[in-house]
Amino acid sequence: MYDTVIIGGGIAGLTAAVYARRAGLSTVVCEATVCGGQIINSPEVDNYPARPHVAGWQLAADLQAQAEEFGAEIKFCAVTGLSVKSGKKTVHTSAGDLDAKTVIIANGAEHRRLDCDGADRLYQRGVSACATCDGAFFRGRECCVVGGGNTAFEDAVYLSSLASKVYLINRRSVFRAEPKLVSALKSKENVEILTPWVPERVLGEQGVEGFEIKNVDTGEKRTLPVSGVFAAIGMIPANGIFSGTVELDESGYIKADESCRTSLPGVFAAGDTRVKALRQLVTAAADGAVAASQAAAYINLAL
Ligand SMILES: Cc1cc2nc3c(=O)[nH]c(=O)nc-3n(C[C@H](O)[C@H](O)[C@H](O)COP(=O)(O)OP(=O)(O)OC[C@H]3O[C@@H](n4cnc5c(N)ncnc54)[C@H](O)[C@@H]3O)c2cc1C
Repeated sequence: MYDTVIIGGGIAGLTAAVYARRAGLSTVVCEATVCGGQIINSPEVDNYPARPHVAGWQLAADLQAQAEEFGAEIKFCAVTGLSVKSGKKTVHTSAGDLDAKTVIIANGAEHRRLDCDGADRLYQRGVSACATCDGAFFRGRECCVVGGGNTAFEDAVYLSSLASKVYLINRRSVFRAEPKLVSALKSKENVEILTPWVPERVLGEQGVEGFEIKNVDTGEKRTLPVSGVFAAIGMIPANGIFSGTVELDESGYIKADESCRTSLPGVFAAGDTRVKALRQLVTAAADGAVAASQAAAYINLAL
């Protein structure tokens, strides 16, 4: 029986592991892929305190090393569910069940996929949700970014230095992105911003050969001669495995209070997976610290 099982080895989960170990809790982190979470694909992070310009993978590697140095165990396995019986929590994983006194859910969130004809069929064959991961495949070719938030503009700026031309399409003519990012993109010569347009169809058989878009106002259709389509249209939490165990909001984020406490005593939620105003590294790390210290308090009070 572990004192705490942490679900997810992103910035929230690894920070929780550091704090849990420093509080003396036996701690295991379950990570489905590689440690670090979303940020490992970001070449430069400029807003993490005292680490300006750090690469995402470096931040993640340093934090993983810190958690392991303090004695956290890391298990590479996928968590498939959580059940509770007489206060004992059992985390179900692809590597078997883990019993725990407390659980910290830090499983982050996933990229939202494009919802148009051809997008699923050509996913990872020209359709991508991660410009930093896949942008290099489109060096010297034309590509398109869909979205109007910070990620869309960051992705388009990044791609403009690789691709011969980048289109950014957005369904509205106003953007959620910060004005600084909008100006940065507008200053790029090989970028065309198209509004109000929506995706209609991704063309191609084995790879992307074009992207049909439709004007929201006029219904006009146009085919962009792109070989890459990048969706930057937000995140969705993957908390279906916890529904019925902890309360979720209408968007599927875990409801947790300021102390990261969920509706189930002894189960905490940290980072992007939970209802919160700002999903960033620093808030994920802060949640990890709060959740672990609350887990320690829960165990001590239960003794
Ligand atoms: C391209 C990009 C750039 C960004 N740039 C910045 C930036 O500059 N500054 C900033 O502050 N923020 C940035 N962010 C946001 C930041 O990365 C997130 O807010 C942060 O990563 C959230 O951390 P997290 O630990 O909550 O979740 P995540 O990073 O999503 O980590 C969750 C982890 O849980 C694992 N997991 C999920 N489900 C399971 C399961 N069932 N079983 C086991 N493991 C599971 C995942 O594999 C993952 O490793 C960026 C995000 C992206 C995508």
